[in-house]
Amino acid sequence: MKLPAYSKSIGLYIHIPFCRSKCIYCAFYSITDTNPTEDFIKALKREADLYREQFQGRKFSTIYIGGGTPSILEPDQISEIMEKIFESFEFEDSPEITIEANPESVDLEKAVVWRKLGINRVSLGVQSANDEELKFLGRIHDIKTASRAIEILKKAGFSNINVDLIFGMPGQSVESFKKSIEWVAERGVNHISTYSLTVERGTKLFELSKRIRMPDEETIVKFYRIRDETLKRLGFRRYEISNFARPGFESSHNRIYWFHGEYLGLGPSAASFLYKPQSIRWQNRSNLRAYIKNLHAGKFPPLEKDVVSRDKLLLERIFLYIRTDRGLPGEFKKIVIERTPELSRFFEDSSGKLNFEGMLIADTLALQIYEAIEPLVDEIELD
Ligand code: SF4
Repeated sequence: MKLPAYSKSIGLYIHIPFCRSKCIYCAFYSITDTNPTEDFIKALKREADLYREQFQGRKFSTIYIGGGTPSILEPDQISEIMEKIFESFEFEDSPEITIEANPESVDLEKAVVWRKLGINRVSLGVQSANDEELKFLGRIHDIKTASRAIEILKKAGFSNINVDLIFGMPGQSVESFKKSIEWVAERGVNHISTYSLTVERGTKLFELSKRIRMPDEETIVKFYRIRDETLKRLGFRRYEISNFARPGFESSHNRIYWFHGEYLGLGPSAASFLYKPQSIRWQNRSNLRAYIKNLHAGKFPPLEKDVVSRDKLLLERIFLYIRTDRGLPGEFKKIVIERTPELSRFFEDSSGKLNFEGMLIADTLALQIYEAIEPLVDEIELD
C-alpha cells in the first residue's frame, strides 16, 4: 500500500515581518516598527546567499512573498529582494509568484512594478465587506479602500487575485458573511480563502474572548454551510478545506504545502521542509533583531530543527490530504474502511475525499484514520 507525496515540487517562501498595525486576532510574526526595514532586506539577501549552494540544481516552481504585510515595502525594496532571489536560485519556466497585500498599502505604482517583476498573483487581506466587522478585527482599511485596491490590481494587469475572508466573529450574522462572499465575487476575484476566527494565545482577541461570547459550534456549522452553498452557486470549487477557486486559479504554492511537497522559507519565523538527505523541518525564530544580527555576522539565523520521523510523516500526510479535493488514494481509503467501517459516513461514496460532515471534523478524523491503519504502518510505502 502506498501513500506517496502528491507534490514533487519545491516552493520558496519569503516572510516580510512588518505591519502598519496589529490586528486583534493575529498570531503571525510581525512588528509595527518599520525602522529596521533596510537592515532586514540586507539580512534576507545574506540568507539567500547562505542557501544558494545547497539548492543549486533544484528548480523552484513557486515564490510566495508573505508576512506581515509585504505591500508595505516600497517598489524598489521589492525589486531588490526579487533581483536577489532570481540571482540566487533557479526556477521552472513561468513560476507562480504571489505577493500578499493589504488594501490600504496598494497603489498603482506598486502594482505596476510587481507585474514588471513577474509577480502574477496577489493575495489581498480584505477579511470582510462590512466596515463594522473590519473595525472589530482591528483592520485599518474600510470597504471602499478594499474595492479600490481590487480595481488598481486589475488595472495593473492582475487576473489572479485571492481575497481572504474571516467568519465567526462575535455578533456576525450568517447573512453578513454571505454578503461579503458575494461582494468579493462581484469584483471578478477568482480565488477566495475563508478562515474561521480563532482565538490564539498572546493576541488581543485572547484577552477580549474572556469578556465576550464567541459563536458556538452550531453557529459555526451554519457559516460553513452558507459558505459552501454560496461559493458553489457563484462558480467557485472547494479544493482545500478553506480554499475556493474558479477553474484554473488554484494556488500552486499552497498545493505544495497541502500535497506534502518541499519548501524553503527565508525571513524570521519562516519554515522549511526537505525530504533529503532525511526528512527535516526547520523554522527561523520569530525574532527580527536576532535574525539581522546573525546574518550581518555571516551566520544562519537562530532556528529550530526537527527530524520528521516516518510515523509523523504518515500522520501529516493523512492530516493534509483529507483536507484537499484529492483526498486519500482509493486503495488506502478501502483499507481504512475495512478496519473501521464507522468512518465510511464521512467520505464521499466512491472516493477517498471527505464529504461536508467529514470536513467539519477533519483533524479528529485524521487521528482516527491513523489509528485504524496503525498496525499496518510498516507496510505503507511513503516516497
Ligand atoms: S495585517 Fe495580517 S499579518 Fe499584519 S497584523 Fe493583520 S493579520 Fe497579522
